[in-house]
Amino acid sequence: MVRIAIANQKGGVGKTTTAINMATALAASGWKVLLIDLDPQGNASTGLGLNQAERTHSSYDLLVSDTPLSDCVVKTPVPGLDIVPATVDLSGAEVELVEFEERTHRLKKALDVGDDDQWDICLIDCPPSLGLLTLNAMVAVESLLVPLQCEFFALEGLSQLLQTVERIRARFNRALSVMGVVLTMYDRRNKLTEQVSDDVRACLGNVVFDTVIPRNVRLSEAPSHGLPALIYDHRCSGSEAYINLARELISRLPERKVAA
Ligand code: ADP
Ligand code: MG
Repeated sequence: MVRIAIANQKGGVGKTTTAINMATALAASGWKVLLIDLDPQGNASTGLGLNQAERTHSSYDLLVSDTPLSDCVVKTPVPGLDIVPATVDLSGAEVELVEFEERTHRLKKALDVGDDDQWDICLIDCPPSLGLLTLNAMVAVESLLVPLQCEFFALEGLSQLLQTVERIRARFNRALSVMGVVLTMYDRRNKLTEQVSDDVRACLGNVVFDTVIPRNVRLSEAPSHGLPALIYDHRCSGSEAYINLARELISRLPERKVAA
């Protein structure tokens, strides 16, 4: 199972939107996908239509209570897409994890046990911080996907993220790399968008995906219907962009898998 964390310590940059719609696009092309909601706000869980009653086990149990992965997984309305939902308990996990000896390796341990062969790929939706939850994700995966909103301080935030990646690589996880940066909420009519986009591409080169995610109101409406945009309106510009991004992502994976 390929593992990819969707991370950026800034809130509101499109992590969860990317997680839900990439997971759906991958599932639609025949991949068996597991999404882990690692944000206490649980937006990925809500956006996939899971009400609180359905969240009997959660990413909190996986991290803190040693509950086996298979017990924490719930089906979503999307065929081929399962989720480990988040509950509010997770907001206490940052503090509770400190008590554990290997507090940065809890998620990796939970995923390494080997009952993961039902899925081809695992996406982890990270919270907007570089705290222990995000560190656990960075230790557990081989790749990061970084959504970046084209705004004034985007590059400053990114350099802080990349420093953290370097530290994790040096101390805990040599395999970790940034597989791609995706520009989100892209607005072609906005001069600043274009300028920041040029700067980011000049600075990071090929790491930046060719596909950009446009600002599209359908992407923001879909979660209130408990559906991915790709199902809510599969023809909107946002859905099309995520389908293209999924293609690009697949082409960047080390072990390519021909879609079923
Ligand atoms: P994060 O997970 O990084 O905090 P979200 O994915 O939750 O960010 O996005 C923040 C808000 O912006 C949400 O209300 C979401 O619906 C909206 N949004 C995300 N991407 C887009 C987009 N491309 N166009 C329009 N709205 C978007
Ligand atoms: Mg989010």
